[in-house]
Amino acid sequence: MTADAIIVGAGCTGASAAFWLASRHGQKVVLLERGTVGGGPTGRSSGIVRMHYSYAPLIQLALRSRDVFADFETVVGGSADFKKTGFLLLAPPGQEGTLEANVRLQRSLGGDTTVLDRAAVADLDPRLRTDDVGAGAYEPDSGYADGYATASSFAAAARRHGAVVRENTPAVRLLVEGSRVTGVETPNGRIAAGAVLVAAGPWTPRLLGPLGIVLPIRTTRHQVVLFEVAEPAKPLAFVFVDLGKGFYMRPDVGGQFHGGSVEEYPDEEVPADAFNEGADFEFIEEMATRLAHRVPAFSGVGVKGGYASLYDVTPDWQPVLGPVPGIAGLFIAAGFSGHGFKLSPAIGETLAGLVVTGRYGEIDLSAFRPSRFAEGALIHSPYAHGIVG
Ligand SMILES: Cc1cc2nc3c(=O)[nH]c(=O)nc-3n(C[C@H](O)[C@H](O)[C@H](O)COP(=O)(O)OP(=O)(O)OC[C@H]3O[C@@H](n4cnc5c(N)ncnc54)[C@H](O)[C@@H]3O)c2cc1C
Repeated sequence: MTADAIIVGAGCTGASAAFWLASRHGQKVVLLERGTVGGGPTGRSSGIVRMHYSYAPLIQLALRSRDVFADFETVVGGSADFKKTGFLLLAPPGQEGTLEANVRLQRSLGGDTTVLDRAAVADLDPRLRTDDVGAGAYEPDSGYADGYATASSFAAAARRHGAVVRENTPAVRLLVEGSRVTGVETPNGRIAAGAVLVAAGPWTPRLLGPLGIVLPIRTTRHQVVLFEVAEPAKPLAFVFVDLGKGFYMRPDVGGQFHGGSVEEYPDEEVPADAFNEGADFEFIEEMATRLAHRVPAFSGVGVKGGYASLYDVTPDWQPVLGPVPGIAGLFIAAGFSGHGFKLSPAIGETLAGLVVTGRYGEIDLSAFRPSRFAEGALIHSPYAHGIVG
């Protein structure tokens, strides 16, 4: 079998790239997935879609992606199950300057976002405790979507544009001749292609290692708690990140909402194929305590359960994107460090353009090049939590 491009991994990143390559560029695409589409960390994502970043290319990616999420049926087809709830970021005293500078940058790039003082934060929902808040940033157009629906819809749309989607088909080896990629080996035989994009999340280093490419991507376990408030109380209506207390919340159906940590440490490095997929009692208790601090009305909130999945974390908590030096036709999109879902529509679009034309278009992602670690050109967030960017 031959293709123009092979994508390894059908999470939101790979499925998005397959869609754009097939639909916009008319490429003959094969999308390989060792399990099922969206069945990895993508399917466990909290799915938060916000634009608040500190670095222009990330803001551009987030803004473009949000537009795709908001108009998914038209642009892609199918559904990402996007809910426009609004998004609130709370920064503690001392970090107001960073928040304000970010909001200015986001506005200059076309984002609808506003700095809120404590009174304006309380106006959003009077149940929020604000005495230890420095400032807030509010984005009315943000919200959350569904990881599994997003990846499945991208893959289905790619298929409608002629892509071949092979589930239960791992790439076992990347094929290279001289200094060019020539295809991928699978258990069912070889597929030849002039371009290969590895979007295999935490499993990416394993595929690239045999080619002598060492990526500093660690695999860490991250938990999510499902809370529930009893009627007539309601969850906060918007998505919410609390930098002071280091956690996030996201509404869900009915009285249910999700909570998780945005802290980098302590983190738990685990083998990608064998880790505890449940939530720990201590973690649930810790999240409930932080929640009760920020929303005292939620003290004693019900816990419906929880789960855990994986982040593929780089030293600066930013993805590794672009061509692999020395191997023509080989590209990487991995290391999303727990915040890649919201970027995936524009990441796929941008990398599809790169694969076909050899250069970046409107959004230049060359700063995310694989060599930046060796060069010491890391992209650090000015916030204490790298995941916030
Ligand atoms: C609990 C949790 C909450 C999160 N919350 C958010 C959030 O609110 N907002 C946000 O933006 N991001 C969030 N993220 C991060 C986001 O979900 C990820 O960054 C994103 O889903 C990564 O997608 P991906 O396609 O790059 O990788 P993955 O989802 O890891 O997909 C990689 C795929 O590659 C496949 N694969 C691996 N090896 C091979 C092989 N050899 N051959 C073929 N296929 C292979 C895997 O089976 C997998 O399906 C969260 C992540 C987790 C775990």
